[in-house]
Amino acid sequence: MDALLVGPGADLRYLVDHEAPPLERLTLLLVPREGEPALVLPQLEAPLAAEAGAHAELLAWSETQDPVAMVVDRLRETGAHRGTLAVQDRLWTMFTLALQEALPEARWVPGSRVMRELRLRKEPGEIAALHAAGAAIDHVHAQVPELLRAGRTEREVAADLDALIREDHDVVNFVIVGSGPNGASPHHEAGSRRLEKGDAVVIDIGGTRAGYCSDMTRDYVVGHEPYGYGALHQVLETAQQAAVDAVAPGVTAEAIDVAARRVIEEAGYGDQFIHRTGHGIGIEEHEEPWIVAGNDLVLEAGMAFSVEPGIYVPDRYGSRIEDIVVVTETGVERCNHRPRHAIVC
Ligand code: ZN
Ligand code: ZN
Ligand code: ZN
Repeated sequence: MDALLVGPGADLRYLVDHEAPPLERLTLLLVPREGEPALVLPQLEAPLAAEAGAHAELLAWSETQDPVAMVVDRLRETGAHRGTLAVQDRLWTMFTLALQEALPEARWVPGSRVMRELRLRKEPGEIAALHAAGAAIDHVHAQVPELLRAGRTEREVAADLDALIREDHDVVNFVIVGSGPNGASPHHEAGSRRLEKGDAVVIDIGGTRAGYCSDMTRDYVVGHEPYGYGALHQVLETAQQAAVDAVAPGVTAEAIDVAARRVIEEAGYGDQFIHRTGHGIGIEEHEEPWIVAGNDLVLEAGMAFSVEPGIYVPDRYGSRIEDIVVVTETGVERCNHRPRHAIVC
């Protein structure tokens, strides 16, 4: 590759510590194979980038300049304009098409070919940040029993959780409060339903702390367990433990999924585990590696991902247990440590 082109988003933040707003004005980091990187950006955003200490030469364009022409000129200096250009996977189509039209001799490949390798194995500082985010969300889950009472709505509980997450995170990424039948929809957020005695409640919450994400699910019951839930939850705990125990360097990503799924299938709940076992996590909530059947990626020390099997019973309740884990030289470490059984509130 002769140059890497990166627009606003996690990749840009990872490379130059600058959080550029994703807008109709072009912001594009150019990383040549040799030489200094340059950040082409709107003049009005230059102070923001300078303040962030963006690790690149700033090439600011004024409102009447053509930023694409600036990119082309810069690439021409190294001959990259007729070379292979790796373009960030999530650059907006309007920019990608304009660049392709202005650079007809270039060959285009996905930027993830570079970024994936950089982001997949976390450095010690990143792992420490994931552990700190994990401790912060553990602390929020510790307070959930005080929030769950019959008569409160999911939204009221979610508002409290939002405030608690904010105490030790910079951003709240999502708050899922799935009570009773709503728990059977894994990405249900929070609605107007009021908690009732005998509800199972799935609480899945996450935020960003010092640039790294937390993501943790625990199950709670209001007053008493609904019928059949205890046995189901015991299976889920066993499955989640089996999957975490399977994590080690040299094991494939799909083997972790198999470890959880086998336990759930053998107990007769296979049809009700309707999603992959996990996803990678880091500066983004969802990133590689995907813990899913068919992914033969071999795990290595420094990879971080969720282990979150779930069992969903339509019209009645759902359940999911989620911890973030990090692959170590010898095995695995969890970032979340709260008890995993369903807590009666
Ligand atoms: Zn999810
Ligand atoms: Zn989650
Ligand atoms: Zn997750």
